Amino acid sequence: MSAPLSSSKKCPHCGFWSEWRQQVDDRCERCGQLLDPVRSRSEHTREKEAKEALPGVMLIEIKPEDGKMLRFFKYIIRGGQLAFAALLAFMLWLLTALAG
Ligand SMILES: [Zn+2]
Repeated sequence: MSAPLSSSKKCPHCGFWSEWRQQVDDRCERCGQLLDPVRSRSEHTREKEAKEALPGVMLIEIKPEDGKMLRFFKYIIRGGQLAFAALLAFMLWLLTALAG
């Protein structure tokens, strides 16, 4: 038994059975629409969500032109921000663990 290199998928737009290489950008041979538009969309959404989750903790910006003392204080504030984020994550984990 060997897995087939290609399979066919019914086009969600016109119902035509098209050759499908299991790629999200495979298109229908008859109408040219995406054969798997739902999965393609959800992958885009996941990408967007991942990008939006990153600046969740707004870290203070430390500029190279900042003075020595200013940078020192900013490092302390940033450390506090990171500790606070870690504490929040821990609280969320704790709540989840207790609820389950
Ligand atoms: Zn089609």
